[in-house]
Amino acid sequence: MSVGLNRKIVHTPSIQSPAVGPVIKKKPAVSFHQQPVRETAFDRPRDLLGNRFVYAVISSRARGLTLGVNVNPDKQCNFDCAYCEVDRRRPAAEAKLDVDVMALELRKSIGFIQDGKLAQWPAYHSLPNELLQLRQVALSGDGEPTLAVNFPDVVQAVVRERALHGFFKIVLITNGTGLDRPAVLRGVEFLTRSDEIWIKLDGGTQAFIDKVNRPDVSLEKILANILLVGRLRPIVIQSLFPAIHGDEPPPEEIREFARRLKELKAGGAQISLVQIYSAARPGVNADWGHLPLRVLSEIAHIVRQTTGLRAEVF
Ligand code: SF4
Repeated sequence: MSVGLNRKIVHTPSIQSPAVGPVIKKKPAVSFHQQPVRETAFDRPRDLLGNRFVYAVISSRARGLTLGVNVNPDKQCNFDCAYCEVDRRRPAAEAKLDVDVMALELRKSIGFIQDGKLAQWPAYHSLPNELLQLRQVALSGDGEPTLAVNFPDVVQAVVRERALHGFFKIVLITNGTGLDRPAVLRGVEFLTRSDEIWIKLDGGTQAFIDKVNRPDVSLEKILANILLVGRLRPIVIQSLFPAIHGDEPPPEEIREFARRLKELKAGGAQISLVQIYSAARPGVNADWGHLPLRVLSEIAHIVRQTTGLRAEVF
């Protein structure tokens, strides 16, 4: 379906545009359906060794190769993000992650990478060697990991595999909503200070979050959970700003987003990095797109200026 090809894209002022002033022609945000086909290191197939729960991905935010653990093969999530790549119209292939099977797959996959065999695969052989070194194991996948009933067992099993293979960083990628659950806090305790927790925060107002993430919890609850874990250990804030119907995020929303980060920092959250990025691959909903680098850079600049935090564009 070629949705969006003839869509009229509405121009909105840039975040730093003056209210009155000369008219500056800017390239509008475009949907994926309007972008030329390009080959990047980040579009490789994720299937690895016929695994059910462990997949491979070259990630810009990981700066290389990540092994992902699909903690929610049932696709369970309490968000319904406009940019989500998971197609929930199709039934899930698995009802639950089998921890023993996952641990075995992880062991096999790490051995495969450490033996240099990934580079021999046609989909990977053109990549430079540094992109084929394992950078991290991510607890992520087709849903929200902190909702999985066996979350602490999954973390413990990955930590156990690490003891067998030598150190690799573990990254929990979460929308933050389950971080206050006692079982999740128990699982988080298995992580070392060298591991990371990346928590999603895609806006600063309930109205915007309702539009982008469509969560079943309030923004206040998400912020409270970020604060809870951020006071215990360093965290990374992960903020995806898509173009929705061709529109850039409103300037007041970005100011409010930065203000929320400032409040979190003042409240004691140890935020080591704010990742600013946009949707990178086509999702289920066609009416969104990738924001230009110019807009993402402006958002990062506002975050740095308002909060003094490190903010990087990916
Ligand atoms: S939180 Fe992640 S899995 Fe859940 S809807 Fe959003 S992008 Fe999809």
